Amino acid sequence: MAAPSLASTSERCHEIAQSYLQIEEPLSQIIRETQNAIKLTQKLLLNEIFPRWSPFNGEISFSYNGGKDCQVLLIIYLGCLWEYYKTNMNGQEFPLKTLKAVFIDQDKTFQTLEQFVESTKKRYSLSLYESDRNHTKALSMPEAFHKYLGDQPETKAIVVGIRYADPFAQDLKPIQRTDDGWPDFLRLQPLLHWKLAYIWSFLLYSGEPICGIYSVGFSSLGDINHTLPNPYLAKTNDLPLRYQWEITHGCEGVVNCSPLSSQDSHFQNNEYLPGWYLLDDSLERCGRIKKN
Ligand code: FAD
Ligand code: MG
Ligand code: MG
Repeated sequence: MAAPSLASTSERCHEIAQSYLQIEEPLSQIIRETQNAIKLTQKLLLNEIFPRWSPFNGEISFSYNGGKDCQVLLIIYLGCLWEYYKTNMNGQEFPLKTLKAVFIDQDKTFQTLEQFVESTKKRYSLSLYESDRNHTKALSMPEAFHKYLGDQPETKAIVVGIRYADPFAQDLKPIQRTDDGWPDFLRLQPLLHWKLAYIWSFLLYSGEPICGIYSVGFSSLGDINHTLPNPYLAKTNDLPLRYQWEITHGCEGVVNCSPLSSQDSHFQNNEYLPGWYLLDDSLERCGRIKKN
């Protein structure tokens, strides 16, 4: 099947966001707060970001690693792209064929995640720059972005799906320059105010494919040597599913997880609940083993 065009994907993502915003009954606290979070992210993109860095001329790139947070941001971003196009360029042809994105693929990641990135690259029409893995010494994130900017010098700003609950993120701002030690560019961080529960409520409602590794007890994905299923998701904890309404009444009516790769199939042992059973932001990274 031919990949959808960026125009049709953006329009579809716009419909997903609008559909979520129109939920009236039952307006659970999580849904109401998520609606407000979506509106703030849209406002940042449409009123603060796109008028300053055009989303149509290569000034903005999108940092994407297949994780749930950047996927949620990508869906909302694409929806805003559609709205911005409709408002400012209606009648003209949609100005982009692909969305510029960047994946720093240095650490050893889950094969399921690699495959998910590959399939969503087509689904969302990403022209995804993937940093070269075949180095004798892996590059650091700042070094990898330095190389990226050397290759794509028109890039002025990069969208990042970071949230306040992430490590060292509590003082970040939606728009800010990079720190010392990083190549100089703008970080666009319009997802900061999202809680873990908002991410899952929206993503499960969207019916979009979700990286399959989340279905077997993972709540946060680091590199393969430092990420285990989250102990708080052990089935013995008997956690409730908070998003049944979103799943049943959402855009597809089912949870749509990408298949587990052969390398990751041993995680399918039925001992852990899926990542979306976890509500508490502070427990999200409890499957991470500290690096020395
Ligand atoms: P995650 O939830 O894994 O990631 C948060 C978001 O970061 C993701 O949604 C995605 O948008 C992006 N991201 C994470 N990993 C990758 C990857 N491998 N490839 C592409 N995108 C990825 N830290 C500083 O201290 N100072 C800086 O100036 C700074 N600038 C940054 C600029 C960019 C464009 C990015 C992507 C990161 C930057 N960081 C910087 C690091 C950032 O603050 C996070 O520490 C980092 O993204 C890892 O996030 P996480 O693993 O904690 O959370
Ligand atoms: Mg995250
Ligand atoms: Mg990470």
